[in-house]
Amino acid sequence: MQNKNSSHQPSAIPAKGIAVHSASANFEPYNFTRRNPRENDVVIEIKYCGICHSDIHQARSEWFQGFYPMVPGHEIAGVVSQIGSKVSKYKIGDRVGVGCFVDSCRTCANCHNHLDNYCLNGNVLTYNSLEKDGKTPTQGGYSDMIVVDENYVLKIPDNISLEHAAPLLCAGITLYSPLKNWQAGKNKKVGIIGMGGLGHMGLKIAVAMQAEVTIFSHSDRKKDDAIKMGACEFIVSNPENFSKLQGQFDLIINTVSSSEINLSEYFNLLKFDATLVAIGAPEKPYSINPFPLIMMRRKFAGSVIGSIDETQEMLDFCGKHNIVPEIEIINPSYVDKAYERMLKSDVRYRFVIDMAKL
Ligand code: NAP
Ligand code: ZN
Ligand code: ZN
Repeated sequence: MQNKNSSHQPSAIPAKGIAVHSASANFEPYNFTRRNPRENDVVIEIKYCGICHSDIHQARSEWFQGFYPMVPGHEIAGVVSQIGSKVSKYKIGDRVGVGCFVDSCRTCANCHNHLDNYCLNGNVLTYNSLEKDGKTPTQGGYSDMIVVDENYVLKIPDNISLEHAAPLLCAGITLYSPLKNWQAGKNKKVGIIGMGGLGHMGLKIAVAMQAEVTIFSHSDRKKDDAIKMGACEFIVSNPENFSKLQGQFDLIINTVSSSEINLSEYFNLLKFDATLVAIGAPEKPYSINPFPLIMMRRKFAGSVIGSIDETQEMLDFCGKHNIVPEIEIINPSYVDKAYERMLKSDVRYRFVIDMAKL
């Protein structure tokens, strides 16, 4: 006899990953469900997921009270394993990525203007957020699969491996977007503060844009790496080293994950009218001295990731220029240790979780 329900799709499909159950907990294996694919959805078998410092901030509720259990991860690279009936951009077997958001309102002015990362009604983040139904928590890439609307999925260039593609989905786009917006390029002097996951991607991308790049780092440990990656100058960020650099920079991007940094010292390094962009999102606020901004009409700005269109543009740019992150591949069971090492700036330069080892 035929099962009455056999013509119906199940309402959810099983997934597994690792999750934290509170702000102070370690990671544990976690079984959960993903939505059954809708007509515009692709199902992605996750192969690799990068670890962004934002994962630490969120897993530990440093920005706001998180949704638990939480499966972090928004640097996702994998392969399409199933598609909905109306999917037109992807087919089974395609190599794809998912970044920091998986939906937006699609109707506001910013969504219309290809600025969906600045959706005026708030986008649906890949994890630690609620789906459009306002009640289902989203879960990220420290897991074996994810279901995403095809309009929020990216195509990975053929010459970039999945493990190297993963960190581009947040670290890559988060630096590409401000570098492009503030016109980093030939004859432009760009400073990058903090050479972590984001900072080292910013260095590689800005060098490919032909800018002259200076790295500011809180020790001299990364100097040789920075020079190898194309930096013109490496400065240990101690104000005594700043006197020769006053008024020189067209753009400075701060990627430091902590607020224990004297930003006002960096304002003085900007040219007249130039901009320092805040990217790092520390738990605690900064205190700044406005005088260096006031006196030379300098600007202090911010920037969040990049739009879906710009993320595809960044991936294609990295494919064209052979830009990939420096990575250390780890097992899912190593994530707690990886977080501790990141907090000591002890990673060269991005941890990437091999999800096949789940
Ligand atoms: P990361 O890999 O941990 O790198 C952060 C770097 O900051 C470190 O490598 C270190 O560089 C420097 N640093 C850390 N603690 C410091 C301290 N106490 N004093 C001075 N320098 C310190 O982190 P990430 O993944 O690149 O993320 C960086 C920040 O960006 C995080 O706050 C993250 O949440 C934020 N973020 C923002 C966006 C956005 O859209 N705006 C997107 C992604 C991430 P050195 O060793 O070179 O000094
Ligand atoms: Zn991130
Ligand atoms: Zn919108």
